Amino acid sequence: MIDSKKMCEILEAIADKIQEQKDFLTELDNEIGDGDHGINMARGFAAVKEKLPDMADREVGSMLKEVGMTLVSTVGGASGPLYGTAFMKAGMACKGVAEMGGEDLLKALSAAIAGVKQRGKSEEGEKTMLDALCPAERALSDALEEGATLKEALGKAVEAAEAGLAHTKDIIATKGRASYLGERSLGHQDPGATSSLLMLQVMEAAL
Ligand code: ADP
Ligand code: MG
Repeated sequence: MIDSKKMCEILEAIADKIQEQKDFLTELDNEIGDGDHGINMARGFAAVKEKLPDMADREVGSMLKEVGMTLVSTVGGASGPLYGTAFMKAGMACKGVAEMGGEDLLKALSAAIAGVKQRGKSEEGEKTMLDALCPAERALSDALEEGATLKEALGKAVEAAEAGLAHTKDIIATKGRASYLGERSLGHQDPGATSSLLMLQVMEAAL
């Protein structure tokens, strides 16, 4: 179960991981974008980390909403509004939940994905963060249906996101800056799918 305290730990660990992987994310974005994904994400999550001490006694949903609003207001580029929307929608989906279990997490992830799709006018298969998130959602759902625990199910989601991320190398970008490259985007992994995987990995490790 993920209560407020656990969620705080997870968010702090995500902020640290993004900071640690900042150069790598930026390098990936250099190849097929404008080389700012790591910088954008690190700026946003540094702002989130600063707010965490004040958020500790809030409900999980309210915390996630605040994270979303912080990302929208501090992160430039496409990823700010997209991740911002994702976290806000996730927060709204678990409004009033004191402790998130597997089903709550699934609801939150589904709402986050729906938010990204709507905001980004995007779908899975376009070489974006959705190519990590959508497979993760399916794997999470399947594992929960088979009776897996939250941690086990999240483990399956991480594996699926890893495979989804690897697949972004084999597809042409049709959304975001990378789409300007057309076929030249082949062979490169998507920066946003990479940051999405990092977040899922951190969450699984924290459970
Ligand atoms: P920008 O592209 O504005 O420089 P970032 O570099 O921070 O912003 O983020 C780029 C990432 O955002 C991409 O790797 C991709 O995963 C994601 N992205 C871009 N456009 C979309 C979209 N329309 N839908 C979903 N994800 C998108
Ligand atoms: Mg960029």
